[in-house]
Amino acid sequence: MKPNPEQYTATARTAVADPVLQKALAGLQDRFGRGTALAYQQLPEGPDLRHVAHDIRMDAIQHLDSLLDELAGNFRKNGGQVYFAQDAKDAVAYCLKVAQENNVKRVVKGKSMVTEEIRLNDALDDAGIEALETDLGEYIIQLANEGPSHLIAPAVHKSKEDVGRLFTEKLGIDYTDDPPSLTRVARKALREKFLAADMGLSGCNLACAETGHITTVSNEGNIRMASTLPRIHMVFMGMERIAARLQDLDILLRLLCRGAAAQKLGTYVSHISGPASPDNLDGPEQLHLVILDNGRSKMLADPDFREMLCCIRCAACLNVCPVYGKIGGHSYGFAYSGPVGAVVTPLLIGINRAADLCQGETLCGACQNACPVNIDIPRMLLLLRAKLADGDEKWQVSRRSSLEKAAYQFWARIMQNRRTYDLAVDAAQLLQRFLPTNRGMLRFLPPPFNGWTKSRDMQPLAAETFAQWWKANQKGDAHGKR
Ligand code: SF4
Repeated sequence: MKPNPEQYTATARTAVADPVLQKALAGLQDRFGRGTALAYQQLPEGPDLRHVAHDIRMDAIQHLDSLLDELAGNFRKNGGQVYFAQDAKDAVAYCLKVAQENNVKRVVKGKSMVTEEIRLNDALDDAGIEALETDLGEYIIQLANEGPSHLIAPAVHKSKEDVGRLFTEKLGIDYTDDPPSLTRVARKALREKFLAADMGLSGCNLACAETGHITTVSNEGNIRMASTLPRIHMVFMGMERIAARLQDLDILLRLLCRGAAAQKLGTYVSHISGPASPDNLDGPEQLHLVILDNGRSKMLADPDFREMLCCIRCAACLNVCPVYGKIGGHSYGFAYSGPVGAVVTPLLIGINRAADLCQGETLCGACQNACPVNIDIPRMLLLLRAKLADGDEKWQVSRRSSLEKAAYQFWARIMQNRRTYDLAVDAAQLLQRFLPTNRGMLRFLPPPFNGWTKSRDMQPLAAETFAQWWKANQKGDAHGKR
């Protein structure tokens, strides 16, 4: 799907009015949000392991150049082929080249957000190669011609009735909304495709530089089928998804599974180190690793945003974010949604273009508390907002609104001066008497504040503010009178 973060407000408005989506999002957050917090508590090392994981990730990011060299060297030693792709076009071209050289006609895919980011399916489709998603959620949204609305639960916005209707229309089955029956239908359709596929594609949850292997995690077993049955397996990884040592990978893997689905470990964890060989007959004939930059080097070069490369795309932040919990993933208009998307998307595709994403978050900090690697997302959201307010040459950001900047400067002046502050409060207390109310709440604020009361009422200013009360009661009594 084409990126469209510009549609954030319009899509969010539709999402908020969709009762099916609201129920699905509430259920998702209720289940995973709480479950993840409990899963961290139950770690043998306790929730502080998140801080250890942050240090591990930051250390890997600081040494990314040498670790990627080490990974590539060891992966090649194990018999795999490595390709460093500068951008989406480069990664897609490499995939198509390998596919064409090997006469690939059918591809089966394990879930991979990086391939969503580079829009690989569209490119394969244009080249006449059938690319089939095999993760059940991804399969559903592919049939519906939609993008994922969650990093690990891509079809969370669909009800079982939606899926029943979709399968009837696209697969020609009699209508049912019984989830096990629908799953069996998908399973049967996919099994045949796995057996007929020439190439399997997957993402990479983590790669290990020390051993030169990649690790994938799934709960359906489909990645294992896509990586072992076809004669070629191609892995796509963002260049930051690396652990220096096996013991680091172990810590990250345990936190990843807890953050993603409140599990101690995913159902299928595969460590893939090479293609089939005379000593090891299992696996594909060719194993390719595509390591994607696509804007990550720019994040790495900026100390302010480098920390975002620690992200292991677990989706824990989506599962607690009050904004994601209302507007869902499609509103973010790109592969990555929720708090992670609100930072990563502007940095990858343009801060002005995706300006609404960072402006839309509440800065409540729930994302950081839920993050298995303790990324300070609110800090980066604020930095993005600052760039939009002031403009920034390095990131080619133009100031979003000079008027807004002037308004806040004016506001700051009023707030910093006792007399002007008191005058402003007096004026507001006077003006609010003329505004419509409902049960003591203001129903409408005049522009430019009217956005606040579009969907909720506002508490009026107290008839007597604390400062006014204090002034009146302080006279002659150092401790005040009650
Ligand atoms: S920011 Fe943290 S919680 Fe969110 S997806 Fe990345 S690792 Fe997971």
